[in-house]
Formats: sequence, C-alpha cells, structure tokens
Amino acid sequence: MSEIRKNIETVKKHMEAACEKCGRDAGEVRLIAVSKTKPLPALQEAYTYGCRDFGENKVQELVEKYEAMPKDIRWHMIGHLQRNKVKYLVDKVFLIHSVDSLRLAQEIEKEAAKLEKTVNILIEVNVAEEESKYGVTAEETPALIEEIAKMPHIRVKGLMTIAPYVEDAEENRQYFEKLNKIYVDIIHKNIDNVFMEELSMGMTGDYEVAITEGATYIRVGTGIFGERNYGNI
Ligand SMILES: *Cc1c(COP(=O)(O)O)cnc(C)c1O
Repeated sequence: MSEIRKNIETVKKHMEAACEKCGRDAGEVRLIAVSKTKPLPALQEAYTYGCRDFGENKVQELVEKYEAMPKDIRWHMIGHLQRNKVKYLVDKVFLIHSVDSLRLAQEIEKEAAKLEKTVNILIEVNVAEEESKYGVTAEETPALIEEIAKMPHIRVKGLMTIAPYVEDAEENRQYFEKLNKIYVDIIHKNIDNVFMEELSMGMTGDYEVAITEGATYIRVGTGIFGERNYGNI
C-alpha cells in the first residue's frame, strides 16, 4: 500500500478515535490535506484515496494546482494573504482561513463584489500571542468581526489558529480551548451576517487534542504527505 494512502487511513482512524473519546460525531470533523510544496502526483494520490479538501499557503501555488486538479476539490487558503494577491484567489478558493485585518477583508470584499460572489472566510487568531505569527489577538477579534460582518460579499464562518510547535500536544490544549471560548462568545453576540460554524485548529502534531476541544477542520500536511522539502521549490 502506498505511503500516502496508509497515512490517510491512519489519520482517519485517529480522527475517529478522538471523536469517540469526546462523544462527537465523526462527521463533524473534516480533514484538510495540506499539500504546500508537494508535487501534483502526491495530490493526485491523496485525491484518489478520498481527499477533497486541500490546503495551500501561497496564492500562486494554489492557483496552479487548482488549474491542474479535478474541479470537485475544495481549496483552502491557510497562509498569510497579501492584499495584491486577493484578486487571483477569490474565484478559486472555498474558504480563506487567514483573514487578520480589516484592510485585507476590504480587499476581499472589493474583489468578491466584482464577481458578484460571496467569499467564506475565517478569522485567524493568534491565541498563543506568539510574536512570529500572524493573526489578531483574542481581544481584537469581536470588533474585527463586527466590522467585516457589514460587508455584503463576505461571510464570516468561524475562527482559525496556528498553535505553537510543541513536543507534547497537550501543551496546546489551552490554546484550542481558548479559541473555542472566543468562538462561543461571538455566537452569543448574534451578529448579523456572521455564521459561526467552523473552528480550524490542529495540525499533524496536535490534531487529536484539537478535535477534543471542538475543531471542525484539522489541517494535516506532514502526517499525510511526509516531511516537506523546501529545497525543491
Ligand atoms: C503547513 C501548515 C499546516 C500543516 O502542518 P503539518 O505540521 O505538516 O501538519 C497546517 N496549517 C498551516 C496554517 C500550515 O501553514
């Protein structure tokens, strides 16, 4: 059996076990195959074994893979997004996970309006307050969402976070718990045009913990495709 196929089966098994552990329905959590830096044959293999959600962190790479891959794939933009690249992305992306400023949202609104399209987004929150990471603070999140909610071509669907790299995944439980709390607080605000349904959290090292804290999307790269080799691109 191929490595990628084996990995997908393993991740799925772990996802189900994590759901069972906390009494969630396995259908509530979706797996995003993070294919950044990986060549098309690797993506095609993941597709063959059932993956339909793929995550990329660079606009150009996402667009190229979008053109080359089957059209029933849902593409997720999970990396930092520059405003001048938004126009290449809005008609191809299923969900932008990394909105972290009003100016970026304004650009998405502008480009989506041109296409008469509604773009689904998540707000990236830097819950661990790491200086090296993008994302808004927990405190800034509600006000940003209230502003974006006024934009007719954007739909806020939830929150995303990138937890720190840790040896012991349990260390990240506090951050997943915190993101879930912000999420629930925002639901209680009942903001018009905000549809809080998604919590994008958990990567190869910590997705099981994230699932037990309420993740609806997990983003797994290494755990499916193996180590990334940045030297190749
Ligand atoms: C690369 C990346 C991932 C996947 O990381 P792995 O540890 O390889 O699973 C998930 N989320 C984001 C935002 C990423 O950039």
